[in-house]
Amino acid sequence: MIVKVLVELSNKNIDKTFDYLVPEKLKSQIQIGIRVTVPFAHQILEGFVLEISDYVDSSFELKEIMNVVDQDIVLNQELLELGKYISRTTLSTLISAYQTMLPKALKAKQGVNVSKKMAHYLLLKKEVSEKLTDTQREIIHQIQTKGRLLKKEAELISTSSVKTLLKKEIIEEVEEEVYRLHHESDFKEKYPLTPSQQKAVDTILDQKNTDAVFLIHGVTGSGKTEVYMEIIEKLLQEGKESIVLVPEISLTEQIVSRFQNRFTDSIAILHSRLSDGEKYDEWRKIARGEVKIVIGARSAIFAPLKNIGVIIIDEEHTDSYKQDSCNPKYHALDIAKWRGKYHHCPVVLGSATPTLETYARAKKNVYQLIELNQRVNHRSLPEIQIIDMNQERKKMVGNFSCSLISAMQDTLEKKEQVILLLNRRGYSSVVSCKNCGYTEKCPNCDISLTYHKSSNTLRCHYCGYGTKLNECCPECREKSLSTLGTGTEKIEEELHKLFPNQKVIRMDFDTTSRKGSHDRIIKSFAAGEYDILLGTQMIAKGLDFPNVTLVGVINADTSLNIPDFRSSEVTFQLLCQVAGRSGRRDKKGKVLIQTFNPEHYAIQYAKTHDYLGFFTKEMSIRHQLGYSPYYYLTVVRILSKSYDDAKSTSNKIGEYFHKNLPNTTILGPSVANVFRINNIYRFQIVLKYKTEKEIYPILNQLIDHYKTNSKVKIDIDINPTHI
Ligand code: ADP
Ligand code: ZN
Repeated sequence: MIVKVLVELSNKNIDKTFDYLVPEKLKSQIQIGIRVTVPFAHQILEGFVLEISDYVDSSFELKEIMNVVDQDIVLNQELLELGKYISRTTLSTLISAYQTMLPKALKAKQGVNVSKKMAHYLLLKKEVSEKLTDTQREIIHQIQTKGRLLKKEAELISTSSVKTLLKKEIIEEVEEEVYRLHHESDFKEKYPLTPSQQKAVDTILDQKNTDAVFLIHGVTGSGKTEVYMEIIEKLLQEGKESIVLVPEISLTEQIVSRFQNRFTDSIAILHSRLSDGEKYDEWRKIARGEVKIVIGARSAIFAPLKNIGVIIIDEEHTDSYKQDSCNPKYHALDIAKWRGKYHHCPVVLGSATPTLETYARAKKNVYQLIELNQRVNHRSLPEIQIIDMNQERKKMVGNFSCSLISAMQDTLEKKEQVILLLNRRGYSSVVSCKNCGYTEKCPNCDISLTYHKSSNTLRCHYCGYGTKLNECCPECREKSLSTLGTGTEKIEEELHKLFPNQKVIRMDFDTTSRKGSHDRIIKSFAAGEYDILLGTQMIAKGLDFPNVTLVGVINADTSLNIPDFRSSEVTFQLLCQVAGRSGRRDKKGKVLIQTFNPEHYAIQYAKTHDYLGFFTKEMSIRHQLGYSPYYYLTVVRILSKSYDDAKSTSNKIGEYFHKNLPNTTILGPSVANVFRINNIYRFQIVLKYKTEKEIYPILNQLIDHYKTNSKVKIDIDINPTHI
């Protein structure tokens, strides 16, 4: 027996399978998709078995595989095929596709040591005839009533009694796997659906055996989540399984417990705040068919369910559904559609502010559009007021206009809560010298350092570099360094001065790095322990606080000023999302947006909650400029430690594209937005095209040509979320 094993060759962008013999004693365990360890050069590597055959090529002396890593197969037939699709469409290696689909503990990589968590139980072995002590009798009693008892618990009663009972063989000890996570629930009534919710459910269930894609376009609070749950429940009654993707950040107890209350223990939950062991357990629960519903962030789209009835992507416009920091650069929506075809099941997208691409497809009937135009029970959307900071500038207190301050005072007096958004963390975004103009920049990146007051450090948000703040300017030696620009830390400081009697809690990347801190902040704010929640875009999504009646946006321009063709879209989405946190229950909500660009259409359409108006305007701009969804885009990045190598290679590649891509518009080469990150120089070429046929073979040739080049790295992002 020969197997072909796919291994990861560290740092090389190469796919290769190698042939190995299977020793007699392992033959019975070998299956396609199982993990094995193999000798490779002078190392031991893990890999996946992709083929099994009996053919032996006698000209080679083959080595034997050493071990089978898991009892169960890791990559089933569907995932094996899905990996090939990902590799083909994102131009990345097959091994990277397989690795990305699996939790860390199941990847074919060395040095990951996660195993099953075992527990020891005590069982009754024979009828008790002899005389027992009190503690012995207590232990036996507990085993009899519960059927079994954790050894640890029995030992709390008496360690010596446990020993004696074991020795006398009255009880026996067994070892069994226990899962690290348990999901419990306190069951609550579900709501009778509104007519429009019911219609949405019926439309989708009528086509439950097709691979149709639906877009539920519904304002925040229109009851989309209830619609998802109803569909899932109906399918569950037929024994069918569901995947629900939600943005990483809204995977809080709030949404998860709504699902748990309804579906109790048939749920697995996957998000990045789980430990490796917890992820490993959740994944195996799914693979073994012990759960029927999987809720998770992006990578939950790979959940190894075998009989999927529906795939739901909530807040489908969320950019983290696209993996863009490493290969393969896949979009969860594409994976959902592929799996929908494989399982003949519908894909349901939901959003108040769908991406232009999605809404355009819905308008062309590629997706079926379901509109939920109103909030449940006709609660009104909050009133939005725009504050022109050009006019208010002289009357501002720090970063707060008079209007925002008085609105906050009114709200807080009524004992209602306030959410404030500023999409920039740290204290200030730039530290520069008033005397000579020097700015503190990252030594590794082409970006200015952010000042963090709580730790009195300057930090780079790209590479993590950190240093103490200088007292004097390193250039002119004057004590004239000052901070410019505002981050959440500074707003927090201003809040303490403006509202000394109110409790403020800040939620951003810096306050949520510890395990559990994220849930803790949300829980304590929901419980009314704080009056004001201040945060970055983290606070904009999915949260449901009944007592929040005022949302303030400190500066709407932070996202508007990002040099990217999607900046208006992102701003519009963010403003609508955060506005949706206000007035979700019986009390009427209000939103105040501070901006230097009050006339900008993204802000104006957000003010009137006019998605369609925004869509139409933005589509005409994309049309004029030739951007997505009218054209497809691909970014080719050329990365090198050497400026000269990066530059000359980009020019060469640019010429190559011009020669070989006659039907494609080629922009660049130019320097990337951030020209240098972590001492790597970055150039980019943007390709715009109507049909993708032309570009795939050329890009494949390019990858092939550079895959063993140690000086220059080529990084390709097809349909990027940012350029
Ligand atoms: P969305 O997901 O569109 O933001 P949700 O499903 O979270 O909307 O619903 C918003 C609020 O309305 C929630 O508090 C939810 O419990 C409540 N709700 C949803 N559907 C109904 C209904 N049919 N009857 C009463 N309340 C409902
Ligand atoms: Zn840096």
